[in-house]
Amino acid sequence: MQFMQGRYGIDSLNRVITWFVFGIIIVNLFIRSGTLNLISLLLLIYLYFRMFSRNYTKRYQENQWFVSKVSPIQRFFQRQKNHAIQRRSYRLYKCPKCKQMVRVPKGKGRIAICCPKCREEFVRRS
Ligand SMILES: [Zn+2]
Repeated sequence: MQFMQGRYGIDSLNRVITWFVFGIIIVNLFIRSGTLNLISLLLLIYLYFRMFSRNYTKRYQENQWFVSKVSPIQRFFQRQKNHAIQRRSYRLYKCPKCKQMVRVPKGKGRIAICCPKCREEFVRRS
């Protein structure tokens, strides 16, 4: 407790490094590569360096940089997941005129779809 006082500790970047090291160690149980071993060791050193660092501002900036790189990727996967859930009961079409995504219920045969944004009508199988 005393030791951790004024030290940086755990943030998202450190958490990801931890999982990464853990993953490498698991994989390396099977393939036993010296290079992977070295990589996991270096990552572990970097992880502890960041955790015990007293330079809070610098570590915080590193984490902010990391989060800014990762969040667009997270958003992309979130969107894919969302679409997958919607596709179970809806069909998604892009409006041919304004490219707006339009959601229609599945299994209604050929229907005329009216774009809610630009009022363009187009016929699709639902
Ligand atoms: Zn439209």
